[in-house]
Amino acid sequence: MTEEVFSVGIDDTDSPKGMCTTYVMFTFINRAVKDLGARVVGMPRLVRLNPACPWKTRGNASLGVDLALKSSQLERLKEVLVDTIFDLSELSEAETNPAFVIFRRNDIDEGIRNYAREAVKRLVNPHVAAEIVKKRATYSFGFNGWRGIVGAISGAAYDFPSGYTYELIAYRTKEYRGTPRRVLPESVFLADKALDSCTFDNVDYENNEVKITPHTPCPVLLGIRGIDITCLKKALDLLEIREPVEGFIVYKTNQATDDHIIAVEKIRDIEPLTSVSFKAEISDLPWASAGGHVFVNVTDGESKIRVAAYEPTRGLRHVLLSLRPGDIVRVWGSYKPREGEPPTVNLEKIEVIKIGPYGKLMNPICPICGTRMKSEGKGKGYECPRCKFRTKDASKILELERRDLVPGIYDVPPKARRHLSRPSFLNVIKDEGKD
Ligand SMILES: [Zn+2]
Repeated sequence: MTEEVFSVGIDDTDSPKGMCTTYVMFTFINRAVKDLGARVVGMPRLVRLNPACPWKTRGNASLGVDLALKSSQLERLKEVLVDTIFDLSELSEAETNPAFVIFRRNDIDEGIRNYAREAVKRLVNPHVAAEIVKKRATYSFGFNGWRGIVGAISGAAYDFPSGYTYELIAYRTKEYRGTPRRVLPESVFLADKALDSCTFDNVDYENNEVKITPHTPCPVLLGIRGIDITCLKKALDLLEIREPVEGFIVYKTNQATDDHIIAVEKIRDIEPLTSVSFKAEISDLPWASAGGHVFVNVTDGESKIRVAAYEPTRGLRHVLLSLRPGDIVRVWGSYKPREGEPPTVNLEKIEVIKIGPYGKLMNPICPICGTRMKSEGKGKGYECPRCKFRTKDASKILELERRDLVPGIYDVPPKARRHLSRPSFLNVIKDEGKD
């Protein structure tokens, strides 16, 4: 009996009530292995799609796995997949468009891989997804339309062009779902200290917050991110968990890879609903709004755009406030046009490349008593308000501001970090070949 490898993609079974696509995939893989004798080839995939997508679900994730099994088992594989999705999804939710697709792995060509790459960076045309499925897929289904199919294809075909990281996700048993997660916060801080070099974003020190446990009523107990599988398992062992764990899975993921970023040369090349990085010069003084958000205008010499660090970016706002006209930066962020607002890039991180001298033109100091003089009017010279010394022989002087900002890359705190954003300290994993 011949064995074949099938690539399965699932998307968008997230719902506001908190079922979670990663759990659907976890359950599906377990059933396929147990009931059909399937073998997982490589690693299951957790693929985050374009975070600037206007109708994204929480996290905008799609899932994929390659399974080797006897060709004759394909029909059974479809059944297991459909049953799992029906068992676990909340199909009545209007925002939920679960979808899945099965390819013979050999039928995934470069065109499909490119489409999957595009879905991480841009809004892709769902009609192309329909074409791909019609021509190439073995089986597919979208419960509520085509949107989910885009993600399903991405989960099935994604090849991690910017490298990858891992996430270990552990699940709760049914009776505990919806209750506070019983993971001792102190143990998370300890595990983070112990495994600092191979896990990341476990805790947010700036906000003194545990990051591995979500606040949704979903089956996810915790998720640990890292760049080494052994290390992730060690981290799990170090945690004090005071509730039963149904099981865990390690996903290969494009989280923290900057996979979504499109590098552009010019501000005019920035496309709506994408995330970009570009080099620019600060053109005006930064300013803060009443809500605690900070803004600054930047220019590439031809056009200007506003860069925003919103309140949750915390310390990053102080970096933005310290910038002065003439400074050179590289910004990373998403561009989602909003009606009634100037075009704005929502900052994910910033590199301060060059800090220029910056100063203000001030009236001269009185040479007799050292007091700042007053202008007598344009071209009329200056008078000292204290000793009344007058002169026409003086002009405004440039007084340089003391700059405490130092060049370097500045990140948002983990709490405000997008799934796809790479923290500047992280080196993601890059393969020579593909698995
Ligand atoms: Zn004076």
